[in-house]
Amino acid sequence: MQIILVVMILVLVIMSIMLYKNFQKYREMERRHTNSRQDLELAQERIYYLAHYDTLTDLPNKLRFYEELNTALAKAKMENHLVALLSLDLDNFKNVNDSLGHFYGDLLLMQVARKLRHIVNPIDTVARLGGDEFIIIQKEVFTAQEVIDLAENLMEIFRNTFLLGGSEFLITPSVGIAVFPFDGEEGAVLLKNVDTAMYSAKKLGKNNFQFFDRIMIIEILERVELENSLRKALEQEEFVIYYQPIVETNTAKIIGIEALLRWQHPQKGLLNPGYFIKAAEETGLIVPLGKWVLENACLQVKKWQLKGFNDLMLSVNLSPAQLRDDDLIKTVSRIIEKCNVIPNCLKLEVTESIAIENIEFVCSILEELEKLGVGISLDDFGTGYSSLSYLRKLPINNVKIDRSFISKLNIGYEEDEIAIAVINLAHAMDLTVTAEGVETEEQLVFLQEQGCDSVQGYYFSKPIPVGELEELLEQQKA
Ligand code: C2E
Ligand code: MG
Ligand code: MG
Repeated sequence: MQIILVVMILVLVIMSIMLYKNFQKYREMERRHTNSRQDLELAQERIYYLAHYDTLTDLPNKLRFYEELNTALAKAKMENHLVALLSLDLDNFKNVNDSLGHFYGDLLLMQVARKLRHIVNPIDTVARLGGDEFIIIQKEVFTAQEVIDLAENLMEIFRNTFLLGGSEFLITPSVGIAVFPFDGEEGAVLLKNVDTAMYSAKKLGKNNFQFFDRIMIIEILERVELENSLRKALEQEEFVIYYQPIVETNTAKIIGIEALLRWQHPQKGLLNPGYFIKAAEETGLIVPLGKWVLENACLQVKKWQLKGFNDLMLSVNLSPAQLRDDDLIKTVSRIIEKCNVIPNCLKLEVTESIAIENIEFVCSILEELEKLGVGISLDDFGTGYSSLSYLRKLPINNVKIDRSFISKLNIGYEEDEIAIAVINLAHAMDLTVTAEGVETEEQLVFLQEQGCDSVQGYYFSKPIPVGELEELLEQQKA
């Protein structure tokens, strides 16, 4: 019995020793495995780094640059902004390599890389595509100035000499610029175009920067800037309204005024609508801007009416984008109510270009406006479609003959026939007629003879600020 017990204990001891050994073996295997996993991860990281980065400058290489560019373009498409590519080539890099050797050439590239990284935003990418060729992705661009500023900062880096091997070297760059989406929507196209721009910088004597399509880019970027500054101008109330008298043809009495928008630009001075109205229309900014004009002009007219200029008609221009605005009718009736103006003192001017829209839709909107008691005038008549059937279809009360016809009037000649025909036709349709752009007495007399109801033009007055218009009204009263 004792022997059996001893044998069992022995077996147990042997088994424990074996188990312990196995456990140690297992621990050793696990340790080795962890080490090799870490090694693998490190190796993978290293491989990734070598594949995506330039070991000399630590900057992203071509492969990584493409990844960054594609991500930036996708984001820009979603968020609706621009991306600029600035490609830079050192003009006299070869001289450094030839005279000082590759060691100093490399040193120069490292210095350039460090300085480039220093001038860009943290989100931007500076990459080295090879040799002395660097490229910057400026990822979130909204204005032309941002790109020009970066290009100028870039040139600034090279104003000072580089210290290499105890000697000073003046290195200059040639920089090409391409901007998404104007110069290409795909990375490959942009890269091709930024190269072209860089070579044209070289051709133009080096040490400069060139846009791929300077005229187009500047124009478009200025446009983008214009849109942004229009938004700001609206917030900061930089707009003012000028008023131009509308005069009864036979009596020369001021019977109405047209509200004409002006932008008191902090740097550029007083700007006419020709400068900004198209951009405001295309961006939809004309909708809040138009509301602002209508409300402020109505408030002003109310003030004049309270001062005794009772039957002054106010004309306000309405753009096609405003006609498409779902809230137009509500807005107009709210403004009439708020300003407490009599609706039939208000005339809204629409241009022939609204014919592009669905005619039934336009008619229904104009009818709604008329139901509010507001008059409708067809502005710039003759410049667009000039369709007579159109005249009949639209619910309007007044036609304004465009200034181009009035300036072409050649009293006693064929040119007059058009003006005469429009006046007669409009009268036959029970519409009143206003002639725009009357500049001479001869034109006025002709229009009087033809029975044109009212006239507007420099002959009487240019569009003028509130105070000056009030003086004219006072003079008339006296
Ligand atoms: P419009 O409504 O046809 O206004 C008449 C334009 O002719 C005004 O130009 C006026 O200054 C100009 N004008 C008047 N008489 C004469 C003249 O005898 N000779 C010459 N050479 N020009 C004359 P302005 O103020 O530059 O406005 C241009 C256009 O901008 C307006 O043409 C109108 O379509 C648009 N606009 C102006 N203000 C507004 C606004 O508040 N909203 C909208 N949607 N458009 C506006
Ligand atoms: Mg007008
Ligand atoms: Mg007009």
